[in-house]
Amino acid sequence: MTSADILTPRLPSPLDEVTDDRFARHGVRLLLKRDDLIHPDLIGNKWRKLVPNIEAAAGRPVLTFGGAYSNHLRATAAAGRLLGFPTTGVVRGEELAGRPLNPSLARCAADGMRLHFVDRPAYRRKAEPEVLAALLRAAGAEDAYVVPEGGSNAAAVRGCRALGEELRGRADVVAVACGTGGTLAGLAAGLGPDRRALGVPVLKGGFLAGEIARLQVEAFGGRRGQWSLDERFHFGGYGRTTPELHAFAEDFEDRHGVRVERLYVAKLLYGLVTMAQQGAFGRGTAVAAVITA
Ligand SMILES: *Cc1c(COP(=O)(O)O)cnc(C)c1O
Repeated sequence: MTSADILTPRLPSPLDEVTDDRFARHGVRLLLKRDDLIHPDLIGNKWRKLVPNIEAAAGRPVLTFGGAYSNHLRATAAAGRLLGFPTTGVVRGEELAGRPLNPSLARCAADGMRLHFVDRPAYRRKAEPEVLAALLRAAGAEDAYVVPEGGSNAAAVRGCRALGEELRGRADVVAVACGTGGTLAGLAAGLGPDRRALGVPVLKGGFLAGEIARLQVEAFGGRRGQWSLDERFHFGGYGRTTPELHAFAEDFEDRHGVRVERLYVAKLLYGLVTMAQQGAFGRGTAVAAVITA
């Protein structure tokens, strides 16, 4: 049995049409691609990114990186518990060491993940070979299979191609919230050339397009599919929210009876409603929003 079988995903994830007058008024259909229902412990799109890496690790310990609230760390720890391989999480922020763990890190630890806290300068340089080697030594994980921050590498991007393939012929525009951009890179490739993938970055910075192009070259040997980013909806950056965003998310939950995760999904949906109201989608367009958590 493969890791994918043991982790029993619900795939393809459901695609539900909802009626929302903010879209209907412009002749636009709104569909929700429920990747949040793929697996109860491997949060959202992390299943698609992680499973190819777990298969590549072939039972070796897995070491990866994240911030104090990283969904990717949570998913990696859960996979380690379910499949029985050791996990180490390198966490940004040395000041967190010795303090009570927040709920997200406590969950990682309960799933058996060893947590290794590093200061921000070292964390920033973690991709440099000497820094990485020193980190692996310090964490006692020299034999580990290393997955980059956010889980985005070539294997992960190829894993996300299936998201696009599931949506082929079902939507004209597919929109997803972006952290590292790995999900969008794979989605665009899977959708094919005649459909559009739209990314809404939740980080401030404007560096993501180059990173997505790089991930596509690494995964597929070149740029794939039609994709673009709308950088207007980060609400101040990663982890930042506003009362307006919370109010929007609560209202969306009331209208449609789906839980709206605030750090990624709320920003995506807010962006889509704004775009629809500005007439960004032509009449008859079917827009699918990927509900990643
Ligand atoms: C990680 C994550 C994303 C972003 O995925 P990337 O591949 O890093 O762009 C989107 N939504 C949720 C809920 C996530 O946890």
